[in-house]
Amino acid sequence: MSYIPNLPSTAEMQQMDAAHHLHPFTDGGSLKDKGVRVMTAADGIFVTDSDGNRLLDGMAGLWCVNVGYGRTEIAEAAARQMMQLPYYNTFFQTSHPPAIALAEKLAELAPGTLNSTFFTGSGSESADTIIRLVRHYWTSLGKPTKSGVISRKNAYHGSTIGGASLGGMSAMHEQGGLPIPGITHIDQPYWYAEGGSSEPDRFGLECARALEQEIDRLGEDNVAAFMAEPIQGAGGVIVPPETYWPEIVRICKARNILLVADEVICGFGRTGNWFGSNTYGFEPDVMSIAKGLSSGYLPIGGVMVSDRVAQVLNEKGGEFAHGYTYSGHPASCAAALENLRIMQDENIVDRVGETTAPYLEKHWKELGDHPLVGEARIMGMMGAIEMTPDKAKRAGFDGHEGEVGLICREHCLANGIILRCVRDCMIMSPPLVISLGEIDQMIDLTRKSLDQTLEDVQSNGWLTH
Ligand SMILES: *Cc1c(COP(=O)(O)O)cnc(C)c1O
Repeated sequence: MSYIPNLPSTAEMQQMDAAHHLHPFTDGGSLKDKGVRVMTAADGIFVTDSDGNRLLDGMAGLWCVNVGYGRTEIAEAAARQMMQLPYYNTFFQTSHPPAIALAEKLAELAPGTLNSTFFTGSGSESADTIIRLVRHYWTSLGKPTKSGVISRKNAYHGSTIGGASLGGMSAMHEQGGLPIPGITHIDQPYWYAEGGSSEPDRFGLECARALEQEIDRLGEDNVAAFMAEPIQGAGGVIVPPETYWPEIVRICKARNILLVADEVICGFGRTGNWFGSNTYGFEPDVMSIAKGLSSGYLPIGGVMVSDRVAQVLNEKGGEFAHGYTYSGHPASCAAALENLRIMQDENIVDRVGETTAPYLEKHWKELGDHPLVGEARIMGMMGAIEMTPDKAKRAGFDGHEGEVGLICREHCLANGIILRCVRDCMIMSPPLVISLGEIDQMIDLTRKSLDQTLEDVQSNGWLTH
């Protein structure tokens, strides 16, 4: 069923789309020949396209549809709210019941003393909010020079000027002269690609200590915060060595800078706990949330802060001259509340942590034995497969970087599964409600696609061992 009556043909829609629609992260010039894939419906963990193909959504949309598709309760909650009060703002000393209830619910779910939320419309807006908020925090404490923000190479924090600057994607920085001043990047804890012959634990410590060196280079009095994803998502599901986070936490405390966790992907059950910070056993001062907060049913994000930060903002900060028309949009808050109710009533986070993620982990790691796979890594319900021409050397496909990833992605789609490729790495992040049987299906389709990719790689003569 489509909400557009008398849907045009796929070819017609592709033509109209190519003529009038500018897409995010897409080479627009190629659309005239290739055409977009038009999604028309979804249910559970499957999406259907305009040609009637049913695809297992191994990415949960864009890492967000945690409770799966087809949850009419969320649609009804948003519709009820839109009939009651479709819009009001949260500026100038006003509020409304859904924003109040959601802020309270988030305080209940978030780690430690993270009890206050500034609402935004997205993860990118949260990143921009964080830059302004951490600077405002230190200025309110009489330390206006503490304004620098340190983040990491190959991080993803969004696409606005602030978000893309905080992010460490060089291809994004090249478009439009980013990053903005005051933001610097340290190396990522990406052992597979950058660890060389170092043991992972040792490498993790070295990467964390790069933060200490960067703070010392800039001067502690000039640094406001360090921001990082507990596990890098868009960068390629980069699971840091065990030693990494404890050392980062130690350094942030010792050097008196705020620790900001970007939980936009890791939050809301993705790693088998409510937040990635829970999984790594630390309590950030500031946390960015979006995506799984509403399972993508309506746009909403937020910045959560600890009591220590909230107290300074409230008692010393005066008016924070910052806000979005849709900060705490009533329908989005209602959808998020219903999404969180489902997650709690259905015990989704516990089920992931205790049952489905361990099962997926066992089978995902078995893919590591495939001749094309250099590493299969996973944490909770997010994972990656590094493809390589030489397992022992963790080598790249010299001269063909990125091509094997695209080949594999096409095989995946033809086989009925959506996985994303980053470089020559396949990544997955399925809806958290995936069943054990569906996990088997996901593994089978992934293995089949890897076999076909291997055949292509062999016939292209790209294997080097
Ligand atoms: C998607 C993402 C963002 C940006 O969120 P948008 O809602 O797309 O603006 C920020 N941080 C991380 C870790 C993300 O994955």
